[in-house]
Amino acid sequence: MKITAVRAYQVDLPLHEGSYKWSGGKSVSVFDSTVVEVETDQGITGWGEVCPLGPFYLPAYAAGVRAGIIELAPHLIGYDPREIGVLNERMDAALQGHPYVKSGIDMACWDILGKATGLPVCTLLGGRFGEAVTLYRAISQVAPDAMAENVAGYRKEGYRRFQLKVGGDPDTDIARIHAVAKVLQTGDRLVADANTGWLKHEAMRVADAVRDVDVYIEQPCRTYEECLSVRRHTAKPFVLDENIDSLQAFLRAHEDGAMDVVNLKISKLGGLTKTRQVRDLCVSLGVGMTLEDSWGGDIVTAAIAHLAHSTPEPNRFTSTDFNSYVTVSIAEGAPQRVDGKMRASTTPGLGIEPRRDVIGKPVLEVR
Ligand code: MG
Repeated sequence: MKITAVRAYQVDLPLHEGSYKWSGGKSVSVFDSTVVEVETDQGITGWGEVCPLGPFYLPAYAAGVRAGIIELAPHLIGYDPREIGVLNERMDAALQGHPYVKSGIDMACWDILGKATGLPVCTLLGGRFGEAVTLYRAISQVAPDAMAENVAGYRKEGYRRFQLKVGGDPDTDIARIHAVAKVLQTGDRLVADANTGWLKHEAMRVADAVRDVDVYIEQPCRTYEECLSVRRHTAKPFVLDENIDSLQAFLRAHEDGAMDVVNLKISKLGGLTKTRQVRDLCVSLGVGMTLEDSWGGDIVTAAIAHLAHSTPEPNRFTSTDFNSYVTVSIAEGAPQRVDGKMRASTTPGLGIEPRRDVIGKPVLEVR
């Protein structure tokens, strides 16, 4: 089997809530997502998706996905997409860095491998653990009472895990955490994600002021060293996200005892192949994981479901169903949330079929 063409499609994903806001006044109202198609000479086509959280979250931007594919894809024509290890070596040899560019291609090749073997990606990634994957809801940054109301609303929809977007004014953030804690019940789980927004002294003030609240602190400060310093001065369970963008970064943080839970985003690490590598180490080392991506629609959500469902349940901290945040469905067959949970498809590959009328014509083709 050989890759004969790589195509990319651009899709706009507006949000049900109108906009998504997090630390430092950053917000997105329409996500710019790239759907990646990898065509083969055997009649099997694979699909992937990459959707950065705007251009100011990680070193990634939407047009960069497309520009990167134009650079990378010519090196992949003629290669066997089922040989995913070989393919990843080839991608890294052809383009230094830029993991998010490689993510959609790698995802599409897992889809092809599944279709070629008649197995869901979940099975290929290790097998299915448990009935379903428990999801969290990200709570966009607004006033404390409004965030508590939103949590109560999403709780009624079945969510039991919530990630508050904090990382703003520390006094307001303390009020946000307290307001939300009041509407939660035993068994619910709360994360305060500052998305790098606090300085060390601000993070320490917040952590101290919410010491009686059952809450995790996620990525309080911009650099790894700042986060490590905060970590060493608080008893709160600690999550790292933005700084853990490679296997090497993960290993260093594990060695330093810098986190209890790590947030693994598929495109941040460069695809399912590299995320699985860190995922498997987390299982061996006893680290909890949020398994997700930076953002996305139906295809990213399907990939998250396969990755999460193939992860042992004790290590699965939580995951995300991004397709329920956006107003546009780009593929049939994607997981649909039921009672705050989703399941990986049982059909071969990712189990999705793009809606051609929605994704439109390719914006680029390499053959
Ligand atoms: Mg985070």
